[in-house]
Amino acid sequence: MCAHPRAHAKGIYIFMIEINNLVKKFGKKYALDGVSFSIKKGEIVGFLGPNGAGKSTTMNIITGYISPTSGSVTVGGVDVFSEPMKVKKMIGFLPEQPPLYIDMTVWEYLCFVYELKGCKMNKSAHLSEICELVKITDVKNRLIKNLSKGYKQRVGIAAAIIGGPDVLIFDEPTVGLDPKQIIEIRSLLRALSKERTIILSTHILSEVQAVCDRIVVINAGKIIADEKTAKLSEALGQSNRFRVKISGPSREVLNLLKSIHGVTRVTQDGAREGDAFPYIVEYSGSIDIRKMMFRALADKGWPILAMEGVDISLEDLFVKLIDGEEEKR
Ligand code: ADP
Ligand code: MG
Repeated sequence: MCAHPRAHAKGIYIFMIEINNLVKKFGKKYALDGVSFSIKKGEIVGFLGPNGAGKSTTMNIITGYISPTSGSVTVGGVDVFSEPMKVKKMIGFLPEQPPLYIDMTVWEYLCFVYELKGCKMNKSAHLSEICELVKITDVKNRLIKNLSKGYKQRVGIAAAIIGGPDVLIFDEPTVGLDPKQIIEIRSLLRALSKERTIILSTHILSEVQAVCDRIVVINAGKIIADEKTAKLSEALGQSNRFRVKISGPSREVLNLLKSIHGVTRVTQDGAREGDAFPYIVEYSGSIDIRKMMFRALADKGWPILAMEGVDISLEDLFVKLIDGEEEKR
């Protein structure tokens, strides 16, 4: 396969990573069905999708560990399939299951990876610096098999950044970690993101919001959204929903709320509190339904006890994106 046409002969390239129309079939099943996106130098991109969406398959293809059925990938202007060794040198990869040698100590393993990558730096200084950065200095003489999941994950990250690759590809780096470890890995990712290009896959939505500049959403082997995180977050703020607590018979209240012009959806949200029930009311963009709601409920003698706006979570947005995609099919 030849270099991508936009990759200049002298190695001048527009995107650090360019993924073009990747298709991957396992038997008759399409794991990837025309995946394309590009990543600029220095970007930190969240690759978000539910289990089985195709995240690991995409990452394994970008890093040259498996080949696609069709499509192309360039990293730093270099074609992954024609020059896999060159590309592998540019990438630090944390696979979904890092291949740790559990009978080695942390330091032995890092030395092993250092040799494997054919690094030509000051070994001891380089590895010590990485241990500091990843905060594993205090366990460097321990056997990997005796480490907690969080520490094992850090050793995997340490191995990935040996040799100082410009591009980091981390497949679900926080899976199986506890909340404290997740926060630590997040701040580590932020520290690493300076001057590096990072793709980080996750099925946890708050993760990408916390760390990434941009979010690429994949579902069933297709990209269904590709947005700046700030833009997505902005959209999240413009919620057309509120939570309202109303004292009155729940079924009738529900029906009344649904009958108000502009209301698109009403759900009961939580348990009875005295003679009141909480509801989530969604309404279409331009109409302010609050006055109508007040009048309708006052007519019935069902007082509103509380009312507050609800921000759309990324979870909701994600479900919407997927639903939207399914409706188009
Ligand atoms: P994700 O990482 O988003 O959870 P994967 O990329 O691992 O998803 O998988 C995408 C789809 O491809 C899934 O349906 C999965 O079952 C299938 N798949 C992945 N690897 C293989 C394989 N080696 N053989 C057969 N099917 C596979
Ligand atoms: Mg995966």
